[in-house]
Amino acid sequence: MPGSPSVRSAPTRVATTLLLAGFVAVPALVRAQAPRGAVAPVAAGAKLRIIAFGAHPDDCELDEAGIGAKFAAQGHAFKCVAVTNGDIGHWGTAGGPLALRRHAEAEKAARILGIESQVLDNHDGELMVTLENRKTIARLIREWKADVVISHRPNDYHPDHRYTGVLVMDAAYMVQVPFFDPDVPPLTRNPVFLFSEDRFQKPNPFSGDIVVGIDDVIDKKLAVVEAMESQFYEGGCCDLPPGGLPTDAAGKEARRKEVRDRFTKRFASTADRFRAKLDEEYGPERGAAVKYAEAFEVCEYGRQPSKEEIRHLFPFFGQ
Ligand SMILES: [Zn+2]
Repeated sequence: MPGSPSVRSAPTRVATTLLLAGFVAVPALVRAQAPRGAVAPVAAGAKLRIIAFGAHPDDCELDEAGIGAKFAAQGHAFKCVAVTNGDIGHWGTAGGPLALRRHAEAEKAARILGIESQVLDNHDGELMVTLENRKTIARLIREWKADVVISHRPNDYHPDHRYTGVLVMDAAYMVQVPFFDPDVPPLTRNPVFLFSEDRFQKPNPFSGDIVVGIDDVIDKKLAVVEAMESQFYEGGCCDLPPGGLPTDAAGKEARRKEVRDRFTKRFASTADRFRAKLDEEYGPERGAAVKYAEAFEVCEYGRQPSKEEIRHLFPFFGQ
């Protein structure tokens, strides 16, 4: 039977024998790398490169817009990647036109924050954990030369969130393995992998290992919420306001305020939830004053940063 592993052609047998005997050169593409020793932590003052993966165009922005704006303001490189195109994320429209609209909203959010944005053309609601998708994620992390990678925890509520989390976890460690997908050079240091905040309790609740105050950029984050109007103002897939969308100016303004107030409360609730961590990081006086925050859990599969290195990777806490 053609292709049967038990029937190997003579030329293949010869090539295999020569390869095993060391007579055939290994292609340059898969040339072995020199062994690497211990990796130095990120130093204070280094220019940082952060890449954050959300399942849909709005997830990275909701979870990381604050730190994205803060990193960008300090000259660091921050990128949001939506792993699906969001093409079913609306109650009244779907498909290509919605994907284009959501791509435009992600671009607008990136301009507000001063960061980069990319939307992968996977259908919303259909993301799968495949080798192809793992390679895509690993390539993006390598090409960005990431110091820090952020994604969902794998026990999030939405299948696309869970599988984005799994795909990013599956790329952790592998991004530095030279012969995994060797057409993109491996990273010389396993990045620090983080999970963005959620409220799910099983099998274990989110741990706020790093919590960043975002009061100085809260207006930008709320502007991003407003810019992603298909999701928040219009209600996304499942939250069309009772009575439909307003058509008069007063009604539209009331709806905008309702959305703004809801997210203002949400971003404040993170600061209250992790007040003790804020006190530890900023000191009790400054920690108590933080109104809005974003929180992150350290994933065990990436490099494990010391407390000192966390302060280099998140240069926002002061002395
Ligand atoms: Zn989502």
